Amino acid sequence: MTSAQHIDGKAIAARIRDELRARVDSIISKGGSVRLDAVLIRCGGDTAAHVYAQNQARTCTAMGIEYMLHELPASTTQHEVVKLIHRLNMEPHIRAIMVHMPLPEGMDMYAVRSAINPVKDAEGVTPANIGNIIYQRSALAPCTALAVMRLIDDTPMGGEALRGRRVVVIGASDIVGKPIAAMLMGREATVISCNKYTENLPALTREADIMIAAAGVAHLVKGDWIRPGAIVIDVGIHRVPVTGDPTGVKLRTVGDVDAADVTPVAGWISPVPGGVGPVTVAMLLANVVAAAELLPGASDPG
Ligand code: NAD
Repeated sequence: MTSAQHIDGKAIAARIRDELRARVDSIISKGGSVRLDAVLIRCGGDTAAHVYAQNQARTCTAMGIEYMLHELPASTTQHEVVKLIHRLNMEPHIRAIMVHMPLPEGMDMYAVRSAINPVKDAEGVTPANIGNIIYQRSALAPCTALAVMRLIDDTPMGGEALRGRRVVVIGASDIVGKPIAAMLMGREATVISCNKYTENLPALTREADIMIAAAGVAHLVKGDWIRPGAIVIDVGIHRVPVTGDPTGVKLRTVGDVDAADVTPVAGWISPVPGGVGPVTVAMLLANVVAAAELLPGASDPG
């Protein structure tokens, strides 16, 4: 039996960064600036968000993008967060804004995201940008959904070939599963959106030319769920103990797809790590650069 080809997210991300570097250089050479302001509200176990923010700072700096982290204490109220976002919206030299997740208990994610000016919306999560996906006019769209589309476009079922293909999307969250499904519909694929209440999921996925797993359940998708030769995109990220480690402290990263079981059946598979993840990061940078280009006066000194 043949084995699925890997869709190399790292290589795709490197190509995207090269292309973006040229655009950043062009903005800077005209006296402009590219800048991302990130808001992080400290809450209990937020180490992951801090690590993410540090990595983000490094990645942005390497690209010539200014990065500013606004760290707020856990006691910050929603009103104060919204006030800060409104202030960042007003600053002409600030090109792009994002708010790190998770938010403290009780804070309304929709209200916080809605406060961001859609033209500075680095993660593409404001209601205006999410809504514009339906019209295929979203200048800044959710990064993971953009990444999934980019990975599909790197396979033989990308581009025009996506038209009429049967695609099953497992997971229907507002920022991941639903935007993926809407983008695929925009490309005229035949889309089935599934959630935790979907009955007999394997029967649906077995009919899919492309199967996208974004359920947040480690190793949910097995080999006998897959149509032979199908494209499998794994969005899930989970840290699980390494099998056979007696200490139980060593962790490895796995996805929603049981890769060992699925690889012999699928035609193409995006690995975890090294698939959707790096391309999502690259798409965030792409949104930041696009936001800098969108703003009037982007070529003026900031
Ligand atoms: P979420 O919890 O908000 O939504 C999960 C969705 O999956 C829901 O619609 C739910 O009904 C559905 N679901 C849950 N269990 C299911 C099951 N057994 N069968 C079918 N559907 C099921 O999660 P999310 O924020 O959309 O994230 C999903 C996964 O993607 C997580 O593992 C997350 O870590 C990962 N993620 C990865 C990236 C990336 O860059 N690679 C970005 C964002 C999220």
